[in-house]
Amino acid sequence: MCQVFIKIYGFLKGESMIFLDNAGTTKMFDECGATYTHFACEEFFNPSAVSRESARVHSEIESARRVCLKKLGALTGTVIFTSGATESNNLAIKGSKKNGDFEYVFSYGEHPSVFNVARSLELSGQKVHFVDLNEAGKVDTEKLKEVLSPKTRLISIMLVSNETGAINDVKEIVALKNQYAPRAVVHIDAVQGFMKIPFSVEDLGVDMVSFSAHKFHGPKGVGGLYVRNLNLIKNIVDGGGQEYNLRSGTENVPAIMAMKTALEKIDVKENFKRTAHLKEVFNETLENCEGIKILDFGGSPYIEVLLFSCVKGETMLHALDEKGVIVGLGSACSAKKAGNRILENIGYNKEEIISSVRISFNAYMTEDEVKSAGEIIKKTYAEMLERLK
Ligand code: PLP
Repeated sequence: MCQVFIKIYGFLKGESMIFLDNAGTTKMFDECGATYTHFACEEFFNPSAVSRESARVHSEIESARRVCLKKLGALTGTVIFTSGATESNNLAIKGSKKNGDFEYVFSYGEHPSVFNVARSLELSGQKVHFVDLNEAGKVDTEKLKEVLSPKTRLISIMLVSNETGAINDVKEIVALKNQYAPRAVVHIDAVQGFMKIPFSVEDLGVDMVSFSAHKFHGPKGVGGLYVRNLNLIKNIVDGGGQEYNLRSGTENVPAIMAMKTALEKIDVKENFKRTAHLKEVFNETLENCEGIKILDFGGSPYIEVLLFSCVKGETMLHALDEKGVIVGLGSACSAKKAGNRILENIGYNKEEIISSVRISFNAYMTEDEVKSAGEIIKKTYAEMLERLK
């Protein structure tokens, strides 16, 4: 307890910081920095050139590809390296567009890098369906069933929600696809799931998976798209034909290799257990605190939402920032603009959405840190209420 108070005092003096916005990004491992520097400054050769040096670099990125496939639990298919999940999602969706009488299926819970691509498909005249979320924050599979048909070309659904942490029933979605939409391909945006929750592409039965290194302590600006069969998609950028002709442009070798370092360091099952425990400890500090509601959708241990009665999420975020606790705005941020499609779709009202902040953990935090963060959040909320009197 004493240690917690010392920590809180330290934070109040601005001496340290507790980062609870790990769904936004994560701190890169030091080891990734060393790998990055090595491949940027020493092994800087272009993997597509013909020198022996280039061949060596080429074989290095092939080894990174194999590590990605292993971590995805893939027995077939390959990984296309991209600049991150936004690009992977664009490639999966735009690349699977086909001429003819086809339909495309998404959910209301998707990240903008899927949702806005879906909207632009719709604007270009394609038939697009958006499926509602149920009260558990998951894609409503009864409603999904209603829009699937032999015309369905693509189903693109996220594995874990970046806003709520809810985990979709992807196996069930694939089973529905097999029954009602046999010609469709299934893509999952697994940004908040890959290297965080245990899963394998073989077990899920999906065709494409997007991921991004900066969400699992790798560098920013690199990620990948797993593709079970290269014939499923077409390239969306023309150029030199790198990455199996699906993503032209010289590969970002230092970032790909640094991502490999992160992949090799993480033990997903161990981190999952650790994070679940940290979340439990954090939630215990907020137990019985009147006015603070924890929305835990029972999915990923890495993400949850807090609602603050009578205080805006944005106000809390700034007040906490001053005290060295960094949280995310998630839903409240978009609620300010145009009404939040995700919490709103689940059934929360505007007041609740505006009062929300997103808390997201990483497995390397300490119990002391999450306890201190909980205490600071409680204290800050009490101060905010006091000001309203
Ligand atoms: N999809 C989800 C679910 C995300 O949470 C994010 C990042 O916040 C992205 C896609 C975009 O990832 P990137 O930053 O690699 O483009």
